[in-house]
Amino acid sequence: MKIVYFGDPVLREECVDVVVNEKTVKIADEMLEALKLYKGFGLAGPQVGITKKIVVIRFNEEEEPLYVFNLKFLEHSQEQNLMEEGCLSLPGIWEKVVRPEKVRVSYQDRNGEEHVETLDGLEARVFQHEGDHLYGKLFIDHISLIKRKLLKKKLDKIRKGIILEEFLPESK
Ligand SMILES: [Zn+2]
Repeated sequence: MKIVYFGDPVLREECVDVVVNEKTVKIADEMLEALKLYKGFGLAGPQVGITKKIVVIRFNEEEEPLYVFNLKFLEHSQEQNLMEEGCLSLPGIWEKVVRPEKVRVSYQDRNGEEHVETLDGLEARVFQHEGDHLYGKLFIDHISLIKRKLLKKKLDKIRKGIILEEFLPESK
């Protein structure tokens, strides 16, 4: 699976719910392979051109990856925090983003089992970042206009398909 970069309209589309079955788990398996190859924390359907609510998350090599189907946000904390984010669809761009510190989410795992969890720290952050992708949002939508203007040249390059080799898996 190839990563879709900023500028592709699929990244702005809203995703649909899925039934967790052999077919959708297979898509998630393939997304996980891409995630490992590109060395990210999380990958959402639209980032491989699939407008379905499928997300895979992997914080490190030791931990079991998470298969997150039909992710929903039930609650957000009032408290917010600031963390730097990057995105496989926006290679080379890193910006600090303010988001709720804690979130309560529901999703189904690869067996179709329903989970309801309260998350904080890096987990809350990655779930929110990936959750945005399911609604056509990107982390740069959260930063100030001034900061966004400063990124214009970089964003234009990505939009034109100029991706530095260091961000492509072949060079690793
Ligand atoms: Zn992303």
